[in-house]
Amino acid sequence: MFNLTDCNPSQREAVTFGEGPLLLLAGPGSGKTFTITKRILWLIHEKEVAPEQILVITFTREAALSMQQRFAQTSSFAGSVNFGTFHSIFYQILLRSGRVQPGNLLNERQKLNLIYPILKKNKECSAEIAKSFLDAIAYYKNTGEKEKTLEKIPEEWKNCFPQIYREYESARTKVRGVDFDDMLKECEELLQNNTPQREYWQKRFSHILIDEFQDINYRQYCIVRLLAERHKNVFAVGDDDQAIYSFRGARPACMQMFVREFAATQILLRTNYRSHQDIVEASLLVINENLDRFPKILEASEPNQRKEETYRGTACRVRIKEFRDAPEQMQYLLHCLKGRSTQETCAILFRTNLAMQSVAARLGREGIPYVMKEKTRNIYEHFIVQDIMSYLRIAAGTAERIDFLRVINKPFRNISREAFGKHVSLQALEDYYSMKNNDYSAGCNRKACEAIRLWKRQMEFVKNAEPKLAVTFVCKACGYERYLRQRANVENNEKTQEWEEILNYIVEEAGHFKTAKEWQEAQEAFGEQLRKGVARESGDNAQAADGAVRLLTVHASKGLEFDSVWIPDCNEKNFPHGNGLDPEHIEEERRIFYVAMTRAKKDLELLCLTGTAERPRFPSRFLIPLNRYRR
Ligand code: ATP
Ligand code: MG
Repeated sequence: MFNLTDCNPSQREAVTFGEGPLLLLAGPGSGKTFTITKRILWLIHEKEVAPEQILVITFTREAALSMQQRFAQTSSFAGSVNFGTFHSIFYQILLRSGRVQPGNLLNERQKLNLIYPILKKNKECSAEIAKSFLDAIAYYKNTGEKEKTLEKIPEEWKNCFPQIYREYESARTKVRGVDFDDMLKECEELLQNNTPQREYWQKRFSHILIDEFQDINYRQYCIVRLLAERHKNVFAVGDDDQAIYSFRGARPACMQMFVREFAATQILLRTNYRSHQDIVEASLLVINENLDRFPKILEASEPNQRKEETYRGTACRVRIKEFRDAPEQMQYLLHCLKGRSTQETCAILFRTNLAMQSVAARLGREGIPYVMKEKTRNIYEHFIVQDIMSYLRIAAGTAERIDFLRVINKPFRNISREAFGKHVSLQALEDYYSMKNNDYSAGCNRKACEAIRLWKRQMEFVKNAEPKLAVTFVCKACGYERYLRQRANVENNEKTQEWEEILNYIVEEAGHFKTAKEWQEAQEAFGEQLRKGVARESGDNAQAADGAVRLLTVHASKGLEFDSVWIPDCNEKNFPHGNGLDPEHIEEERRIFYVAMTRAKKDLELLCLTGTAERPRFPSRFLIPLNRYRR
């Protein structure tokens, strides 16, 4: 007899549910993923469903691998069940039909190369604009929603979107390239219009199980509907409170659509097995403030027994801690990490990738082991950091052309690229513009000369200053900050906040170094570390990286659990992210916060900054219902 003793009655009902569609709707930690894994076992061992006919869909590659590994611990059939993301499944379907070939998959760089020349034909444009166009195109392909698509690009480009979209598509078809978003569309068309193909795949996947169903977008839902048309065996599990991908076009409303269109049975789970009662209660106080949600009951398992034990000298497992500024907060994190037990899993969860990288760089310098799974951009590769470093190298007397080219006109100085001869230096530039026989007018030469002389004087100062002062000087006195503000105005106002954060971070970090050279070496070492870290990443080391603290964005922490969790920077503008958000966005931000809180099993700390008189910071509005947890 199949062992169901570790399931509670509702879980058992779901695991052994007969044929047909089912929606399992339940809060975090209630065993949704656990139930899916059980269900697969049950289908194979009790119902004798062939493992190859089972399709399990998750939203990230990590989640797919993690589930496959969880499953492999209990069954020898793990290799034959199809675990995949929507993307990998669609890719498989299109490969078989011959609609794509392995070499045709476009990566980000190739897509940028396609769109750049098209944009440049219209107006002068930067990499940031090109990226915002790619975002918008992806969103459009996933949702077909025009208005929201246009929100992703700067105002003065909005009119050009349809034209650029067409040109991009024709350039893409010319090189026969496809990306994941194209695959979605192609796959839907294929299954809709090609009967033999549709029938093949319908027979092939007799049972479809989907985790984190709230993250599905409408197109994906339509494809699931096509695949399941014949057998209707869709086992979907999700939690509308954890829908955090609407910016990518996810439509949690598909859950109710599924219930209606498939006449699906609904089962609810109400016991949270993951988290201590304090954590469950605190997270509910937060999410209950959302209006647009399906109310659910969620209770900690074994509440009384757990409540009595004390943990690390405090009775409460949820704590809000306040710090004056980021360095104080960092100091506290370092203190906690040094003192923790390596038996326990722990994670720091970030709202933004950027904040995560700044902590990673610091942990690296302190020699505290950490694992950062995502393919992160290296913060030091950001154009702002590169610009600043170029300034510092110029001050130190570099003759590298590339450093000069980066910053000659940041801010605008009237200097032309042609002014560079063989030998590059500020002196050589000045000599060039002092010559009477160059191609420029006297006025132009004079302006350039003045700018270069000023620049020279500035660099004299920077050369002798410690890094922190040097960076501040470049930003304020050399006009780099002014340049950024102008650029942000032209490009996209949303960038202003991110750029400001990066500048603050750089100034802050510079304070840790005595010389620019030392700093540069640390950056190179960090790059090397990142490359190694990324190569090492695989599967479920999310949970297992013996003793190392995990650094994750909240989005990437979906579905995972850790004994201790820290959430730094619980401040307005960071969490919720952005400025002046409308109610709909605030609700999504609150769900992201809820996902973060509910990753913790035993211990949860929310850290926030109170700021200083000249730089006030405001604690996050999400902390308001949590007042009683202040420590
Ligand atoms: P999330 O919404 O965050 O993805 P989930 O609902 O998928 O959460 P799981 O990750 O499946 O929750 O389960 C949370 C934890 O509870 C896991 O450690 C799991 O092993 C445990 N668990 C689930 N069901 C039971 C049960 N009946 N008895 C004991 N432990 C359980
Ligand atoms: Mg889960």
